[in-house]
Amino acid sequence: MAGAPSIEEVIEDFNVLKCMQCGVCSGSCPSGRQASLNVRRLVRKIGRDHAAISDESLWMCTTCYNCQERCPRGIAIVDAILAVRSIAAHEGLILERHRQVANLLQEHGHAVPIDDAHKEKRMQLGLNSLPSTVHSHPDDLKDVKLLLASCGFGDITGGKE
Ligand code: SF4
Ligand code: SF4
Repeated sequence: MAGAPSIEEVIEDFNVLKCMQCGVCSGSCPSGRQASLNVRRLVRKIGRDHAAISDESLWMCTTCYNCQERCPRGIAIVDAILAVRSIAAHEGLILERHRQVANLLQEHGHAVPIDDAHKEKRMQLGLNSLPSTVHSHPDDLKDVKLLLASCGFGDITGGKE
């Protein structure tokens, strides 16, 4: 299983301590307008406090990269968030709803498996009812499962393999 970095490596590798708390990141964060994510505070927490790994707002980022592109200090904000998520997941700190999504991925090869309503919508748009993925090629699902098992995905997410 691939390991996670340490919090010290994240702070060093992504220049987290260069943050001057200007708030440009929070001001450009669409998730912050909808969820309990304050990315400026989260960056400060990652830099100062190991408890960042258990902060639920860690999982509210959609990885749109708006903040990272605008940060005047060139901090790799999203890369740091993803790395801290990796640490959290390796420590079993993953939200239950994300664990459920991980289980769906392992079972169906899709985080959001297709249903009849979406098949119908696809056909209305002139598409095949099924996307050209394991939904259309179910024999390949075993390869997806093998790939996930080979990187310890189920162990990390606490789901099935
Ligand atoms: S934009 Fe960059 S420097 Fe400003 S608060 Fe956010 S992370 Fe810190
Ligand atoms: S990448 Fe995440 S934290 Fe940054 S602006 Fe987008 S949602 Fe907000």
